[in-house]
Amino acid sequence: MEFNETADLTCENYQPLSPYKCLLHLDRVAQFINDDYQVTPVTAHLVPTLNCNQRCYFCTYGQYKEKSKNPGLQMSLAEVIGCIDQLAAVGVKGIIFTGGGEPTLFHGLVEAMAHAKSKGLDIALNTNGYRCSEALMDGILSCKPTYIRISLNNGRPLTQKLVTGRDNFHHVLENIQRFAERKAQLSPETDLSVGYVVNIVNLHEMREFLDQMVRIERRVMEKTNDETPIYSLQFRPVSNFEHSKHTADLQRIDALLQYMQDTYGDAYREELEGFVKRDSQPSSKTMRLALEIIKRELVPAIKMNPNSRMKIVFPELKFRDIIAGSQKPYSRCLSCPWYLFIWPDGSVYHCVEWAGDPEFSIGNIFTTSLSKILAGEKRAQILAEINKTVINERCVTICAHHEMNILLNSLQALEGDPSEIIQEIKRRQIPVRHTNFL
Ligand code: SF4
Ligand code: SF4
Repeated sequence: MEFNETADLTCENYQPLSPYKCLLHLDRVAQFINDDYQVTPVTAHLVPTLNCNQRCYFCTYGQYKEKSKNPGLQMSLAEVIGCIDQLAAVGVKGIIFTGGGEPTLFHGLVEAMAHAKSKGLDIALNTNGYRCSEALMDGILSCKPTYIRISLNNGRPLTQKLVTGRDNFHHVLENIQRFAERKAQLSPETDLSVGYVVNIVNLHEMREFLDQMVRIERRVMEKTNDETPIYSLQFRPVSNFEHSKHTADLQRIDALLQYMQDTYGDAYREELEGFVKRDSQPSSKTMRLALEIIKRELVPAIKMNPNSRMKIVFPELKFRDIIAGSQKPYSRCLSCPWYLFIWPDGSVYHCVEWAGDPEFSIGNIFTTSLSKILAGEKRAQILAEINKTVINERCVTICAHHEMNILLNSLQALEGDPSEIIQEIKRRQIPVRHTNFL
């Protein structure tokens, strides 16, 4: 079989990032074979609020928040519940409560998560881990999320402060530990992971970050007897989008640039300046070094630690294609129809990275039923527009769904019975996790 012989995609290091998850939804695969735009989405990214208590310089939705007339836009609880009901009704299987802004700042988060669960949906949470009272933490965990991913994108207190605008490094570390301890009690089946978006600032702090996580893992193991208090550390490359970045606080950005110059020299400052001021992508050199550190230092450090159970998760092919400066090895975005992104004003998007830009909205869930939006002309029109010009002229070359697009494009190009292909994939037992979260 010729199907995706890119061995990288089947590696152990993908796990929850595996593009193969989509192929385990056989009903969706059948829809895809029939009409690649008419797939019922498996996953919804639900953004209840644009409020955030950090200002990360690379934030994917930073410009929307800084330039918006309504930067604190958020849904009411009734609107969130209405969205969840509609998502369940059309057959979505998993909801990720995410940003936009920081979902734990949404006052009705626990009610919303509990409601989604009561509708038979799997739920997950992406959070920056800054704010979490005991009641909120216990409420979230009592909803039994499939996973919680806490973002901590730095290994040192000073860079955390300069990157996020908040002096909260130790606070977030404490919250990771608290989450892990409470998880052991309330929801041992939840995968708690810590995400690290690799960028020029934190490149040389990855080991320090990992050592912090190992210490937390050990402390929680000793306290709770939980064997996997932290399921994984997820290292993903940063991307620079048209609407990314928090840059309004010029003083802090200047201090960050100065820090880079003082600590690593001119080239590092220049790369950061290019990202922040000229929309440059991270350099191939930075990503090469990052991949080397992950593979040569971090993976062996965990493997050789008999007490650690954490997995090091990273999308290797994405790193490699950025390093190689590759163009997209596909001409159509086939991943978009498989997931949705709901903005706090009710706008519905497919692409996670174009979410928030009204040009890419396929409808508004507050005014039109989701089933109508999914069957509507606007959806087909936006998807066609993406594949006609946007994918080559405006999308970043290597986007979040790069590997899924490689996989779906190769599936589409294959001749033969797709069910045989799926059987073959199942036989290979490719390690995937969090199947309902694409
Ligand atoms: S990346 Fe997350 S934590 Fe940072 S500013 Fe954006 S929404 Fe907030
Ligand atoms: S190819 Fe473009 S439209 Fe498709 S997921 Fe990537 S960024 Fe979004």
